[in-house]
Amino acid sequence: MQLQNTQKTSQLNIIQENISLKDKNWFETGGIAKYYAQPTNSQEFAQALEFANTNKLEIFVLGEGANILISDEGFNGLVIKPQITEINFVEPNLALNLGYVTAGAGVKFQGLIDFCLNNNLSGLEEFSGIPGTVGGSVYINIHYFEFLLSQFLIHATVIEKSTGKVLQVDNAWFNFGYNQSTLLAREYFLIDATFKLKKVDPIDAAYHKGRRDEIIRHRVKRYPYKGTCGSFFRNFYESEVTHESAGKKMIYVAYYLDKIGVKGNLKVGGAIVSHQHANMLVNLGQATTHDIVNLARTMQQLVFDNFGIMPKSECQMIGFKESPLI
Ligand SMILES: Cc1cc2nc3c(=O)[nH]c(=O)nc-3n(C[C@H](O)[C@H](O)[C@H](O)COP(=O)(O)OP(=O)(O)OC[C@H]3O[C@@H](n4cnc5c(N)ncnc54)[C@H](O)[C@@H]3O)c2cc1C
Repeated sequence: MQLQNTQKTSQLNIIQENISLKDKNWFETGGIAKYYAQPTNSQEFAQALEFANTNKLEIFVLGEGANILISDEGFNGLVIKPQITEINFVEPNLALNLGYVTAGAGVKFQGLIDFCLNNNLSGLEEFSGIPGTVGGSVYINIHYFEFLLSQFLIHATVIEKSTGKVLQVDNAWFNFGYNQSTLLAREYFLIDATFKLKKVDPIDAAYHKGRRDEIIRHRVKRYPYKGTCGSFFRNFYESEVTHESAGKKMIYVAYYLDKIGVKGNLKVGGAIVSHQHANMLVNLGQATTHDIVNLARTMQQLVFDNFGIMPKSECQMIGFKESPLI
């Protein structure tokens, strides 16, 4: 390909070529990125976008790779992995018992939780142990039991893909839902997000740190922690299912997979369904993305054949010409 912007690129010095993505995602599979950039602020982010737009390259913004599956053929465009890693907090409003924390898109979410608790701010610890960056977490609106990240986000900075324009937006702009936000359209990317948290005294903060540790202990027992993207399929919407258990619509995809008996049993190549959780696929070490895709397709078909409903992916597919799933 003839690049229009090579001179400018070398001046920027933030665009790299042919970078392996295998070590940049939790499944530890996938090919290389043709172009790769790690902007440290919104100006560099805009420069990376300009490079991609000028050269008509597809763009993928990468966080910690905890919710993606990358094609074995890699990504023939520009991967942008924001290294915007500042955390700032506004002195808490003691009268209202509130505090505000702003974190860059590249901040690891657990690091943000720890920062908040160390500064006597509570709320985000409900998401303890969920791997990922602030960018990836806002994108999918991370959830754990009844908690959604959108309950805490009050405003954010985003950058427009087509223009590199930086905008300040509020919670409503995101149109948040379960696994849902405006960012899913990939027309805007997160630069930073501000969360409204509860100001607590140091004794309460110690209690919340205990809760954080307990949640992490609980998660380590329940879920695999290597070679996986967490839940591979999203839960069903109530409108998609008819099956009930104890008078309630059964929306949990793991319930159906458990009934079929795939947990710890079903295996394709180097990929297996976790023995801990029926909705988590695990790379045993040598799996390719092709193995993981074939395992996921087999699971979809089994659920469809047994229950007449088709699981849909929560994991984001990167570098495929069309969806590799059924
Ligand atoms: C063991 C395990 C357990 C998990 N448990 C949970 C859980 O309990 N609850 C839950 O909700 N999730 C869970 N997940 C999924 C995952 O942790 C979250 O989706 C996380 O937010 C992914 O963040 P990331 O930075 O790794 O994003 P990536 O996987 O790198 O990317 C995911 C998506 O976010 C987009 N994205 C990343 N950064 C930005 C940005 N700056 N701007 C716009 N878009 C961006 C990407 O383009 C991509 O589409 C789990 C995953 C694992 C591996």
